[in-house]
Amino acid sequence: MSAIAENLAKVLVSLPEEVTLVAVSKFHPAESVAEAYTAGQRVFGESRAAELSAKAEILPGDIEWHFIGHLQSNKVKPVVAVASMIQSVDSERLLRRIDDEATRQERHIDVLLQVHVAQEETKFGFAPDEMMAFVSSGGVAGLRSVTVRGIMGMATNTDDDARVAADFATLRKLFDTLKKGAMAGNPRFDILSMGMSHDRNLAIAAGSTMVRVGTDIFGQRVY
Ligand SMILES: *Cc1c(COP(=O)(O)O)cnc(C)c1O
Repeated sequence: MSAIAENLAKVLVSLPEEVTLVAVSKFHPAESVAEAYTAGQRVFGESRAAELSAKAEILPGDIEWHFIGHLQSNKVKPVVAVASMIQSVDSERLLRRIDDEATRQERHIDVLLQVHVAQEETKFGFAPDEMMAFVSSGGVAGLRSVTVRGIMGMATNTDDDARVAADFATLRKLFDTLKKGAMAGNPRFDILSMGMSHDRNLAIAAGSTMVRVGTDIFGQRVY
């Protein structure tokens, strides 16, 4: 078994059955994705449009690509062409652009709204109260080719487990509030994407339904 296949198997046994694994392959070569694919993994995450396009072109067509990085308007077109989900929608403008482009390409795209709860200032995403206001005021209404499937967030990057757990609890609470409130009529609003290599156990304990794991599967990234 390859190292990647072994790592993947280890991650998978550590996950509850109902939690979806996104294998984050950014900055790793297509050969690494192919190894994980051969081991059975089908859902992969990428954070840069050009890298996603290049990999999608040479790798098997039944891979489900999730875009997880900051998406600039001028990169919406190539990402919509290959992604099945965009997890990093951080503005109404971007959401509408994705819907327009998906409609033009006659594709359907699932999206997650990205929430910013971490203490770092550089992270993208809606603040929780901003997202509540956005969704409650019909911000996700009238989409033609996009389904809003849930929310994505990251915890503060710290060794302080209490801080991380509090961030995940905030995300969970927002998800539940939206699910029971403004998104109650949307049964497909069912994904809470949180948890990475180092903090996925805390995320799962807080109710994550989707984890995005890179390093623990593919090793350290070389930027
Ligand atoms: C890179 C990245 C990950 C994976 O991080 P690891 O620590 O390597 O598991 C998860 N989510 C997002 C949004 C990322 O950009």
